[in-house]
Amino acid sequence: MKTAIISDVHSNQEALLAVLARLEAEDPGEVWFLGDAVGYGPEPEECLAILRERCSLLLMGNHDAGAVGLTDTALFNVYARRAVEFSAAVLAPESRQYLASLPLRLERGGAELVHASPFEPSAWHYVFTLRDARAAFESFSGQVCFIGHSHHPLVLAMDGAGEITAELFAELTLRAGSRYIVNVGSVGQPRDGDPRACCALWDQGSGTARLVRVPYDVGAVQAKMSARGLPGYLIGRLARGV
Ligand code: ZN
Repeated sequence: MKTAIISDVHSNQEALLAVLARLEAEDPGEVWFLGDAVGYGPEPEECLAILRERCSLLLMGNHDAGAVGLTDTALFNVYARRAVEFSAAVLAPESRQYLASLPLRLERGGAELVHASPFEPSAWHYVFTLRDARAAFESFSGQVCFIGHSHHPLVLAMDGAGEITAELFAELTLRAGSRYIVNVGSVGQPRDGDPRACCALWDQGSGTARLVRVPYDVGAVQAKMSARGLPGYLIGRLARGV
């Protein structure tokens, strides 16, 4: 069985629809969403509706939490805060209730799923350093944990001796005796220098995971962001993938 794992859509409907169209060709049994439906982009309500229709599970991200008052947005930078306030203002009351009801972590199909880190999920830690990685590995028990949040696709592997390595990946084969934290990147605001939308396909049968990159109409999203008065910095970065 193949499962598509997507994260960090951030109100970018063009990127989301491009990814879902591309995934149809891959015929995944399910699509899992690791959080941050809203924030940054111009169409939070539309994106949440599509995700609710197409995904068999949805997790809460920090921007989702911020938009519904469950995380203090004073911790966000000024651009992120303005965009999350825009999301909060345009979301329907029922959508806000739905976002507030989402889980922070789930276990499904033998995998741990969380937006930020399995270590204190509600604290939204990034997994950047070896120390972050060790805390994360100690906070779940299975072989693989899929995460989002940093918008940087990455694999952290811990071998049987407890040695942790980090690698960029296009395709990963899970080895028996090793454990993995796989960052699936971002659909709606990639930051690894590649502006194409990003997600992952996990094939439980063959024990492989691979990244999928999908071009989309960045200019169309930028025009909608301008029309809604969203910060120029957020508009510009989409074209550069940073
Ligand atoms: Zn995000």
